[in-house]
Amino acid sequence: MKAIQMHQPGGIEVLRYEDAEMPQPGVGEVRIRIRAAGVNHRDIWFRQGLFGGWTRPMIPGSDGAGEIDAIGPGVTRWSVGQKVVINPGLSCGHCIACLSGNQPACPDFRIFDGTYAEYAVVPSENVVAMPSGITYAEAASIGVPYVTAEDFLERAQARPGQSLLLWGATGGLGLATLQLAKLRGLRVLAVTRSPARAEKLRQYHADDVIVTTGADDITDQVLGLTNGRGVDLVVDSLGQLTFLQSLAAVARGGVVVTVGSTTGGRVNFELGQLFRRRLTVLGAYLGGSDVLPRLLPLFARGVLIPVIDSSYPLEQADQAHDQMEHHGVFGKIILTP
Ligand SMILES: [Zn+2]
Repeated sequence: MKAIQMHQPGGIEVLRYEDAEMPQPGVGEVRIRIRAAGVNHRDIWFRQGLFGGWTRPMIPGSDGAGEIDAIGPGVTRWSVGQKVVINPGLSCGHCIACLSGNQPACPDFRIFDGTYAEYAVVPSENVVAMPSGITYAEAASIGVPYVTAEDFLERAQARPGQSLLLWGATGGLGLATLQLAKLRGLRVLAVTRSPARAEKLRQYHADDVIVTTGADDITDQVLGLTNGRGVDLVVDSLGQLTFLQSLAAVARGGVVVTVGSTTGGRVNFELGQLFRRRLTVLGAYLGGSDVLPRLLPLFARGVLIPVIDSSYPLEQADQAHDQMEHHGVFGKIILTP
């Protein structure tokens, strides 16, 4: 099969479109003919080696949709030809965390990699039937961003009437957070570096849009928009550049969700900022396996809308990464094998 393989970590040049070994489904696994793969920021970190190096060629990509093409021994629930979406959280399936439905607490919890390919093999528990009425590209843009956002909004106990400051609002995770937060009745203050994308954010029902140069401090604007109180929740995927502003912009007793560090992961602050103001810092990393099956029907009904920025043929994965890293997006980038 054709796939994007990486032989060592590095820049976009390590994403090589080449012949790869056809994966065979083992016991309890299914093979999927991938029709669309969603690009996540995680794929860039994976490519750069931030999760450690590797000794064999690796295929990136956690989100994907397609049809079941082959079935391993012991799989009875699925048949060849069924359209499915990959549920990208992998766990052991038999520890206390897994048995109690809290897969992200499993010691073996990790996110699947391998959808930048014509075929991918996953455990049969990690596929969900694709609802009718959505395309493969839309189905491939849901997994990581929506599962992550729904999980942290739930854990932060986001309630109607609360306010949420959203960094990086135009990315896949940003727009997923915006839609799910609006569905929960929150007021969303969306932050973007692009004046051109500010109007589009309003079309997606952002209540307030803050345009930043990246170098300025937006704390005063947030306080001004919230009568000096600050927001109940901050969702910060940028890290080093923004985290101190996140701490300054959150109200007493509020929650700062850290869900990535695209600008770097080192932050220095005085702990009193947390305990004196009774703040919660909540780390977010995907979510439970129940979230995707619960959300998919909302896409079929048009309650949630996957936003797709652009689509590239699989062999141009390097161009897709270049766009995400250097040129910005409004929604998801999709690869079509
Ligand atoms: Zn487990």
